[in-house]
Amino acid sequence: MTERKKHKVTLIPGDGIGPEVTQAVLRIVEATGVKFEWERYAAGAEAFELHGEYIPAALYESIARNRVALKGPVTTPIGGGFKSINVTLRKKFDLYANFRPIRNLPGLETKWPGVNLIVVRENTEGEYVGLEREVVPGVVESIKVVSEKGSTRIARFAFEYARKHGRKKIHSIHKANIMKLSDGLFLRCARQVAEEFPDIAYGEHIIDNTCMQLVMNPYQYDVLLLENLYGDIVSDLCAGLVGGLGLVPGANLGAECAIFEAVHGSAPDIAGKDLANPTALLLSAILMLRHLDEQAAADKLEKALQTVYAERKALTRDVGGTAGTSQFADGVLAAMG
Ligand code: ATP
Repeated sequence: MTERKKHKVTLIPGDGIGPEVTQAVLRIVEATGVKFEWERYAAGAEAFELHGEYIPAALYESIARNRVALKGPVTTPIGGGFKSINVTLRKKFDLYANFRPIRNLPGLETKWPGVNLIVVRENTEGEYVGLEREVVPGVVESIKVVSEKGSTRIARFAFEYARKHGRKKIHSIHKANIMKLSDGLFLRCARQVAEEFPDIAYGEHIIDNTCMQLVMNPYQYDVLLLENLYGDIVSDLCAGLVGGLGLVPGANLGAECAIFEAVHGSAPDIAGKDLANPTALLLSAILMLRHLDEQAAADKLEKALQTVYAERKALTRDVGGTAGTSQFADGVLAAMG
């Protein structure tokens, strides 16, 4: 019998609820039998205290070498302080596609059952390029960058995904009535790519209207294609449709590397209280297993997760249960058999 392949994966537990959900997810993922060698690194404020760098050089090298990372949330200071670690890593490794599947889990009552949406967020441009300055005291300018190359490749990612996975419809979400040049370019690129995919319906909706449409009738959408900031905001709205931020996973994908992380942030209000729901990071780890072509393990985990939710046995408080973070992990492990 051939020895099973061992996957070297960079691990960033993060801060806030990051270490708690990461620990829970590692226990579960290791129980699948897939062999991992984790290269663990601190990032953000914790890394600065330890190494004097927010992102240690060794962490960059580890991701470049392994090409796959699993990442917990890292706190970004508000209104000042160091640059977002998440944004810096996405930019550094050119992880231009942020892929976020939004699906209901069984056993959770929500207004809209059976939601099955894909959010495709451009991950390297827009307002996130970090070009802000105070022009004169009391006046600040912030530059939004949209490029033909960036817009075309994210549109192509969305259409190729849709074709490969049998999705029928893509909507570009924009504000091109006001941002005529930037969002106008984004739309032009998407339309051009759409012409190469006549088998997939293409539509365009204005962002504010889309927010209303999503809460009134999310079934009208299939794949949402958005610029960086719109994608960030609409992802949280979509998380609300299926039961909250504790449930939505994400993948940051580029030509070379991939970083898998939940949509939620470090949730400092519940950190260290055994309240965090590890489902979003677990679903991100399932996306990672599929990326590593460990389909059987991914299927097994997904099935166990569905069972835990359907039976409502070990659910965390954010989804109406009473279990703590590690009790939830125990529940998933039990369901794996
Ligand atoms: P960021 O901008 O860094 O992504 P955010 O503003 O979206 O962060 P989060 O830290 O993601 O904020 O969390 C918002 C709220 O959602 C938290 O205060 C917390 O109550 C809830 N929440 C987020 N993630 C989880 C989770 N995994 N389990 C339970 N509740 C969560």
